[in-house]
Amino acid sequence: MSVLVVGSIGLDTVKTPLDEKADLLGGSASYAAVGASFFTDVKLVGVVGDDFPQDHVDYFKQRKIDLEGLQVEQGKTFRWSGEYHWDMNTRTTLSTELNVFEHFTPTLPAAYGNTQYVLLANIAPKLQSHVLDQMQRPKFIIADTMNLWIEIAKEDLLALLKRVDMLILNDSEARELTGQTSLIKAGSLIRKMGPAYVAIKKGEHGCLLFGENHFFSCAAYPLEDIHDPTGAGDTFAGGVAGYLASRSTGEVTFDQLRKAVVYGSVLASYNVEEFSLERMRSLNMTDVEDRYQMFKIMSHFEVLE
Ligand code: AMP
Repeated sequence: MSVLVVGSIGLDTVKTPLDEKADLLGGSASYAAVGASFFTDVKLVGVVGDDFPQDHVDYFKQRKIDLEGLQVEQGKTFRWSGEYHWDMNTRTTLSTELNVFEHFTPTLPAAYGNTQYVLLANIAPKLQSHVLDQMQRPKFIIADTMNLWIEIAKEDLLALLKRVDMLILNDSEARELTGQTSLIKAGSLIRKMGPAYVAIKKGEHGCLLFGENHFFSCAAYPLEDIHDPTGAGDTFAGGVAGYLASRSTGEVTFDQLRKAVVYGSVLASYNVEEFSLERMRSLNMTDVEDRYQMFKIMSHFEVLE
């Protein structure tokens, strides 16, 4: 089954303690769509300006991503710039230029309306809801969000949460949304806000998965060198959605979700090895399966006699 991905598509300028690169392919939907495309067919909904390089469009096509929902508007593409601090875990946003993204209203092609798996990558929660308004009830809806929306659009976010099956957010966002310092309490509180499942990402420390009477802690791959953490969360979400869509025939189960978050973590761990989506260009499914097996070995332990 295919996945519909909606979110931002942009050109990023990224500075790390060791390097700086400009005008890179970025945006939450770019990472998420490419991540999901390792497992299943993807339909991408987003907007770019007429300055968006053809090379990036060709890359989406090469990943067999359906671009009928990609709007090309007159004007400049969304641009974002950020600088990572020495720990590569914290960053400062240097600039955000909305450009054509400012007046973006996601409009779904008619053929997208009955897509069964939906990933609402990070954009304003009102726009995420607008996508759902145009769909028959999908089988499984995942939403991502960011601190900005918790701060300036909390009501919209709370309304969205009542309509989604799973929320993916990072640890500081989970604490901000719930006012709890404990991530375990935060996970169950967010479930009470609507989504049956919640994944809380902890950057280089892995992620926590919550379901009714279920809990899973997924380690992070022990990488020695991280070159650019941008989009790790979006790639993770794309991997989760893509894996679920490729495997699930009936109801999504917690067991499938456990595997999905491991696959998401595998893809994210590769993605940070190079700037932008560069590592994804050379990645293949054998690499993905190899690292999945490594996760399995790393997490395995015997019960002591
Ligand atoms: P992440 O590292 O997962 O937070 O995602 C980084 C990506 O989000 C970058 O490629 C940016 O282009 C994109 N981005 C930054 N700010 C926003 C925003 N306000 N809305 C949507 N996407 C954004």
